[in-house]
Amino acid sequence: MTPPSSPVLRCWAEIDLGALERNLTRIRGALPEGIRYVSVVKADAYGHGLYQTVARLMRSGADLFAVANVHEGAAVREIGPGWKILVLGPLVPGEEPLLAEHDLVATLSSAEEAERIEAVAETSGRPRPVHLKIDTGMGRAGVWYERAPELLRRVLASPRLRLEGAYTHFSVAESDPVFTATQRNRFLDTLAAVPELNPAGLLIHADNSAGLETFAAAGPFNAVRVGLLQFGVAEGSTALLARVNPEPVFRFFTRVGLVKELPAGTGISYGRTRFLERASRVAILTAGYGDGLPLAASNRAEVLLHGQRCPVLGRVTMDQTIVDVTGLDAVRPGDTATLVGTDGEDAISLVEFSRWAGTIPYEILCSVTKRVPRIYRTAPEV
Ligand SMILES: *Cc1c(COP(=O)(O)O)cnc(C)c1O
Repeated sequence: MTPPSSPVLRCWAEIDLGALERNLTRIRGALPEGIRYVSVVKADAYGHGLYQTVARLMRSGADLFAVANVHEGAAVREIGPGWKILVLGPLVPGEEPLLAEHDLVATLSSAEEAERIEAVAETSGRPRPVHLKIDTGMGRAGVWYERAPELLRRVLASPRLRLEGAYTHFSVAESDPVFTATQRNRFLDTLAAVPELNPAGLLIHADNSAGLETFAAAGPFNAVRVGLLQFGVAEGSTALLARVNPEPVFRFFTRVGLVKELPAGTGISYGRTRFLERASRVAILTAGYGDGLPLAASNRAEVLLHGQRCPVLGRVTMDQTIVDVTGLDAVRPGDTATLVGTDGEDAISLVEFSRWAGTIPYEILCSVTKRVPRIYRTAPEV
């Protein structure tokens, strides 16, 4: 029997699990002793693929996992038994039984939620573990900090709830240290207002990737929640981030499908937003917004071909994108074009790529579509 020929990739993401592991080691190394590492792997591990990512993180020193919802929690539970898994988002009524089914830790933001979780605990005959989330100025999940002491007391008094942690979330950690300090102080004052609370027995956390320096201002903090940074993207400018200096985990590639010459004045792509100023050589790439190249990057993004920057001409289309390769005579169909990553002396970072589209690295990572195979580099590099 003839083996099937290996598929030729048209657009793919390369995920370097060795770099992921090294990033985690470096982040841990930059934190004070005894700080627990909550690895945030929501949204399919920021688009990197939940299974492979979590399997590696479990062997690399993560202490707990955090996900957006109970379904993601169930997926992490399937990968490794025994891990603590924290659900960050509010529970939609009806989801509570899944907490017990998959042994997940809920985030609690209201008395109404507490009642729903208590009902599940009653059914299963065992108290449910929860982290209480305090809204200190994000305006999203969490109980408003001025109401938090009351809810904290309510949870501590409940035989059906087991308080395992308390946390808050920063809204401007990367850009506004003054407001971040305000949030931190609101959080600490709230905890201090409940004397029956013993922070030593709890997980107390606030910092995400950008806020990673904040807990160093002492207090009861003993955990961090790290998402983007472990994938090699540092946003913010703290000394700690500079020390960690993470390696990129995600690279994004496509291919040249066609090379052709076009006369000056040709209108390029849908909408005729771009006209060639000179006779040009163009390459048609085999990826578009159907793969995760944002339409917003039309006429703005660049790709690397043979180590040279080639500008995108006109609108990105669903399956194809046109780039200017005038003067690059070596470009041929089949060549690899780097969308994010290094080629020769030059590199395009995820941050640079996201700016072309007027967005943030988080959204780019979540927008790489199902059509794009993730290729895993599994061996740790030396
Ligand atoms: C996503 C998220 C994080 C992780 O944020 P990063 O900036 O990716 O490190 C931490 N905490 C909460 C509540 C989140 O929703």
